Amino acid sequence: MTDLILPVYDDVAAAAARIKDYAHRTPVQTSRTVDDDFGASVFFKCENLQRMGAFKFRGAMNALLQFSPAQRKAGVVAFSSGNHAQAIALAARLLDIPATIVMPHDAPAAKVAATRGYGGKVVEYNRYHEDREQIGRDLAQQQGLTLIPPYDHPQVIAGQGTAAKELFDEVGELDALFVCLGGGGLLAGSALAARRLSPGCRVYGVEPLAGNDGQQSFRTGRIVHIETPQTLADGAQTQHLGQHTFPIIRRDVDDILTVTDDELITAMRFFAERMKMVVEPTGCLGFAAACAQKSMLRGKRVGVIISGGNVDIRRYGELLAGQ
Ligand SMILES: *Cc1c(COP(=O)(O)O)cnc(C)c1O
Repeated sequence: MTDLILPVYDDVAAAAARIKDYAHRTPVQTSRTVDDDFGASVFFKCENLQRMGAFKFRGAMNALLQFSPAQRKAGVVAFSSGNHAQAIALAARLLDIPATIVMPHDAPAAKVAATRGYGGKVVEYNRYHEDREQIGRDLAQQQGLTLIPPYDHPQVIAGQGTAAKELFDEVGELDALFVCLGGGGLLAGSALAARRLSPGCRVYGVEPLAGNDGQQSFRTGRIVHIETPQTLADGAQTQHLGQHTFPIIRRDVDDILTVTDDELITAMRFFAERMKMVVEPTGCLGFAAACAQKSMLRGKRVGVIISGGNVDIRRYGELLAGQ
């Protein structure tokens, strides 16, 4: 195996300076209802209000801003059916870099349209018969494109960590931080920020119960691979943590928790009804876990990262209505 270069806190700080003129500094919201219910001070970092609707814009922008002139000219390729696709397409458009996105042929039409809307060229593949990573690598090789993966990349991790950095910069030190977990880019970056800016903060990754590969990996000390899990949290349907994210998570994260889809829906309804915010199921992971832990959070200062708000609006209505 080649030596990995893991990002450090200084890379998060550098990313924050680099993307500052492009990314939103998203608001930190509080809720009297939550604070009374928890007997705690809870701070929500609202990445559902980030550009393109999720924190993924941060990592994409940080990576593309470091392309050489030759890389910019040739273009970027990404494989994703979700928020990473839109993040790369938007970041590339802002920098005038051609973007090719490899998406499954049956990806939701709204997501394909959004990616095209940001100027991305969509290449479809058959998710049952073709390997998207291989397609991405082939395109990269044949056309000289640079492949930017959704989480297993030092510059992506550093970029994702800027959300937690902003949270600590704004509210100060915390006792606990709850972070949504898929492949671990957001969690690893958040942990780097926490260890420097709030060393005593307990950092928790939260994943869907149906796909607890991260928890298994954290506890056994090796990257556990699983089948694509069935869960409403489509942004966390990853099969394994990354080579770069896992060692950081193992070193800097305190534990990995799981929540059920029902708990996600309860959290999603709360955000809609009480905080007037559209949050996608995956974006509810952190808060759902905090709710389950609330007796342990009494009197504490608690951070929750809301990771994204992109959800098909009909589906959202059905979930809220309980269908
Ligand atoms: C991608 C994504 C996640 C998971 O992020 P990782 O860096 O893969 O752990 C969580 N929430 C949303 C909304 C996402 O788009």
